[in-house]
Amino acid sequence: MAFLKLQGLTKSYGSFLAVKGVDLSVEKGKLVCLLGPSGCGKTTTLRLVAGFVPATGGEIHVGGKTVSSAKSTVPPEGRNMSMIFQSYALWPHMTVFENVAYGLTLRRLSKAQIAESVRTILSATQLLALESRYPGELSGGQQQRVSLARALVIKPEILLLDEPLSNLDANLREEMRFEIRRLHDEFRYTTVYVTHDQAEAMTTADMIVVMNDGRIEQAGSPEDIYERPATEFVARFIGGTNILTGTRRDGDTVGCDGGLVLRCGSGSPAHEGRTAVSIRHHDIELSSVRPAGETNVTVGTVTRQIYLGSHRDYLVSIAGGEVVRTVAPVNVAIPVGQEVWLTFPPEKCRALAS
Ligand code: ATP
Repeated sequence: MAFLKLQGLTKSYGSFLAVKGVDLSVEKGKLVCLLGPSGCGKTTTLRLVAGFVPATGGEIHVGGKTVSSAKSTVPPEGRNMSMIFQSYALWPHMTVFENVAYGLTLRRLSKAQIAESVRTILSATQLLALESRYPGELSGGQQQRVSLARALVIKPEILLLDEPLSNLDANLREEMRFEIRRLHDEFRYTTVYVTHDQAEAMTTADMIVVMNDGRIEQAGSPEDIYERPATEFVARFIGGTNILTGTRRDGDTVGCDGGLVLRCGSGSPAHEGRTAVSIRHHDIELSSVRPAGETNVTVGTVTRQIYLGSHRDYLVSIAGGEVVRTVAPVNVAIPVGQEVWLTFPPEKCRALAS
């Protein structure tokens, strides 16, 4: 059953609609990532849940209680939610211990209770040894851990994270993704996590909600979203893919504009007329010799080949001037200008709903 439920949630700024009727159900204890390009409405949705901005329409329910509707709105301080921002927003004049304890002191708990709760969280976030330091004496990653500890210690009904790792360098960001997932597995707070970083969403989320232009484009498990994108937008946004456009023929066959005819083993092509087919870069098989089969096979010419350490990245020009991108092991080194054969396995060709 849904613990957090958004129904027809809408937010307008003047005549501009930033969030356009979002419906979303999040089960208790799940971590949901709102993922999408800049300006698609992720942060606005998060702020609506937190109560920092009033909704224009729709409802928000938490644990069966209405926190926002046309009739009434619970203010942020009445929602028992914790929000973590890009800027860690730590108190510079307080130690790590005092920063984490702050939310509990407001709740008038005894000193012993506070110390016990704070030390439990500091231990889980590997900060115990740093409890007497000030934020200015910590690295960026350590400061972000403190902001996580501070949010977790009050045992929020809902944890909200707004691009929490964007101020960290690439290596630390990767490490902290795993850390956030580990902490989530330990504490199981219902969490909404905003990011525009696909890898961050794939690593941390139970469910990814892809947003586009104020709407939900698709919601599902990371595997669902990656393996079974429903729309061209999702296929392009999540992972590298080639999109070939064409016209649906009989059954599962699409005649691409360049002349290539593809059998599509997955997806749901438009009932008639124009449709798009998605095939991931790594799913196309590249060979310098003509394969035995004929289905979904075409000839092309290498126009770019780049060595990337773990693999080689190819651009291949095929019939009709279409260019597709594919990858191959490093030992498959075919020079620019050479003829190659591409196989598009039917089970990897996904016809997208138009
Ligand atoms: P980013 O990844 O860049 O943070 P986002 O998906 O979180 O983007 P939002 O911050 O939710 O996007 O903004 C959605 C849209 O609403 C944007 O076009 C933005 O310019 C607009 N917007 C946000 N806040 C306001 C505001 N206070 N007044 C007017 N327009 C706003």
